[in-house]
Amino acid sequence: MEYPGVSFCGYNRKGARLWGVTDHEWGHMWYPMIVGSNEKKHVWMDEGFNSFINYYSTKAFNNGEYPARLGREAIVAYNKNPNREPISTHPDVVQSANLGMTAYYKPAYGLFMLREYILGPERFDNAFKSYTHAWAYKHPQPNDFFNHMENVAGEDLNWFWKHWFYSNDNIDLGIEAIDAVGSDYLLTFVNKGFPFPLKFEATYEDGSKEQKELPVEVWQRGNRWIFLLKTDKKLKQVQIDPDKITADIDSTNDVFILE
Ligand SMILES: [Zn+2]
Repeated sequence: MEYPGVSFCGYNRKGARLWGVTDHEWGHMWYPMIVGSNEKKHVWMDEGFNSFINYYSTKAFNNGEYPARLGREAIVAYNKNPNREPISTHPDVVQSANLGMTAYYKPAYGLFMLREYILGPERFDNAFKSYTHAWAYKHPQPNDFFNHMENVAGEDLNWFWKHWFYSNDNIDLGIEAIDAVGSDYLLTFVNKGFPFPLKFEATYEDGSKEQKELPVEVWQRGNRWIFLLKTDKKLKQVQIDPDKITADIDSTNDVFILE
């Protein structure tokens, strides 16, 4: 448990659990002790941020002595639970069974997707550090965080904040059909969730692979997008999000294998 300048932990903690709690409570010296968000209302702005940072600090600590996890499967399971509530639900009214997800894990996973899939580490880190400096010794509201990240990263991310932080909406990208046209292919992608950028990997029969990225704007006119894959090679397989970064709730429509 954290207080300004001091933290407490159980006296019998050892190893990974001692590292975990110490790392987490140190993080609180920044969020919310220096970047002074309101933890009684916007608890994700400190617990979620710390849980996100703990993933990277644990990977870095002592050459990865302890395993770092963000729990993708648990996030997907929560996002399919009919009793789930949005991250924005204040901690004094959220169902107790949901608090761990709304305050800690779901916001942490959102920042992870923002860093690793949407913006990339360089743009994310630049924006997140800038937010921390700009709002140190002040009291940021959620919109201050959202605005700062957008202004420094240089991208409209309203589609992400709105759905991931303020709703129970989900990510569900899929591939519906592949049709050969001459030596090229028409790939029909569908979006059954909220708008989300789509990354995919094409694998050819000669074993070579290539990755492509469709921006979130492809969903502005509807939930189906046909992409022309120009190639001289024979296509074998298309896989959405091959690195499994997103919390897509249905993995059964993420891979298409050509007969
Ligand atoms: Zn905490």
